[in-house]
Amino acid sequence: MEAFDYMRPTSVVDACAALREAGGTARALAGGTDILVQMREGKLRPAALVSLRDVPGLRSVRRAQDGGLTIGAATRLIDIETSPDVLRDHAALAEAASWIGSVQVRDRATIGGNLCNAAPSADTAPILIAYGSSVTISDGRDERTLPLEDFFTGPGETVLEPGELLTAISVPPAPARSHAKYYKTFRSAMDCCTVGVAVLVVFAPDSRVVEDARVVLGAIAPTPIRAPRCEEMLRGKELDTALMASVGALAAEEARPIDDVRASAEYRRVLAEVLTKRALAAADSWLQKGAGA
Ligand SMILES: Cc1cc2nc3c(=O)[nH]c(=O)nc-3n(C[C@H](O)[C@H](O)[C@H](O)COP(=O)(O)OP(=O)(O)OC[C@H]3O[C@@H](n4cnc5c(N)ncnc54)[C@H](O)[C@@H]3O)c2cc1C
Repeated sequence: MEAFDYMRPTSVVDACAALREAGGTARALAGGTDILVQMREGKLRPAALVSLRDVPGLRSVRRAQDGGLTIGAATRLIDIETSPDVLRDHAALAEAASWIGSVQVRDRATIGGNLCNAAPSADTAPILIAYGSSVTISDGRDERTLPLEDFFTGPGETVLEPGELLTAISVPPAPARSHAKYYKTFRSAMDCCTVGVAVLVVFAPDSRVVEDARVVLGAIAPTPIRAPRCEEMLRGKELDTALMASVGALAAEEARPIDDVRASAEYRRVLAEVLTKRALAAADSWLQKGAGA
């Protein structure tokens, strides 16, 4: 590993200034579970690392009165997985976090690091997008907020400019009579997912009709993607086995997978179909148990 400067600012303003002053290759350091591995492997040679450890306000989960969540970017995955505020209405996010790496990894890794690293397989991204989340970015002077689905621009790439930090993720309240689920497949416990699918289904009052839906596919395109044709197919229809099968088949069509060491593109399409159907079946069984009453 090459030598680099290490800074520990104590505010967002100072952290952004430190990133700007250290130049284009400087990076934020959150849990280090991605960046330190990349540096050790020589894939990344930042001139400076700016630690977020002492920056206040980045490491908390806050639940608003309307049930929405504001999650600080440096919140550890283990704190998300166990947060009563997250578990209350956004249990699928807690579950997705709990499936990342090992407990040792989640004890250090942060949600912001998972998003900013921008791996197509990042496990928190699909479910956060399914919940309709947005992200807040600061350059130390001004803030901007954008939908999370617009944050990613390619593998390992985001809209973040040099000197900017992701500071928070806002998750809207879960809609009434809604069910969300994230499923992923992986080759071994410590491996990134081969495919991940998040589905949020909102049922109309007193019926099995789908009022709204979001279907998000991970590890199947250069960035996590929504599957708009699947969502359109679901809207206004009763959720039954035939519809689940048709939407699953469409998810395989909407995927844009590549062949890589983890799976062939063809196999990924099969997984997208299976996981989409499985997530819809989970919503169906939740409704049948009367949970949406
Ligand atoms: C053994 C192992 C298993 C893993 N398993 C999984 C898995 O199953 N699923 C999965 O999705 N990931 C997995 N990962 C990857 C990793 O743990 C996660 O992506 C983690 O959430 C990264 O968070 P971090 O805080 O460690 O990020 P860091 O490594 O500190 O940072 C990652 C990148 O984000 C940037 N960054 C971090 N925070 C900010 C911020 N607030 N603003 C701007 N830029 C920022 C950094 O500069 C860096 O470029 C695994 C990693 C290991 C080592």
